[in-house]
Amino acid sequence: MNSRIRLVVIGGGIAGAELVRTASSKKTLDITLIDPKPCLEVQALYPEYLVGKAKVEDMTAPLYPFCQRGANFINDLALNVKDGRVICTRCEVEYDVLVNSSRNPTELFWHRGCGADILHQHLE
Ligand SMILES: Cc1cc2nc3c(=O)[nH]c(=O)nc-3n(C[C@H](O)[C@H](O)[C@H](O)COP(=O)(O)OP(=O)(O)OC[C@H]3O[C@@H](n4cnc5c(N)ncnc54)[C@H](O)[C@@H]3O)c2cc1C
Repeated sequence: MNSRIRLVVIGGGIAGAELVRTASSKKTLDITLIDPKPCLEVQALYPEYLVGKAKVEDMTAPLYPFCQRGANFINDLALNVKDGRVICTRCEVEYDVLVNSSRNPTELFWHRGCGADILHQHLE
């Protein structure tokens, strides 16, 4: 039986990606990162990009290195959270602990299991 805690992180911006990278050292966690983009974007460079002073490759970094220590990466959009599962466009992912770092202000927030206090219990 798998006794590892299933931590699912929605959103691979700097917050989610760094959480995944650092939490991957915990052998008690089975971590999955979900993001429809394969790369993290440095948003501070958006203005430079818009005026042609930065290229896409200057302001993006692939997410896979953040998952190198064993986290799973699902390249998909989370649509909803229901009954302990994140529902994406192509799959569903079960979780014990959910972190929403998508900055999506609506339906993905405030589900059971989603909260820093719960995560801390598992990371300590
Ligand atoms: C022009 C500009 C300049 C800035 N300058 C600075 C600065 O100088 N210093 C500073 O500290 N900060 C700066 N910021 C702010 C900084 O960029 C943000 O605070 C930071 O990017 C937030 O990171 P995050 O990981 O919380 O969210 P985000 O970077 O927004 O990441 C959210 C991720 O969630 C994913 N996502 C969204 N919805 C879903 C979904 N339904 N399912 C799955 N994934 C989803 C997105 O694809 C994205 O990858 C700047 C921002 C801008 C726009």
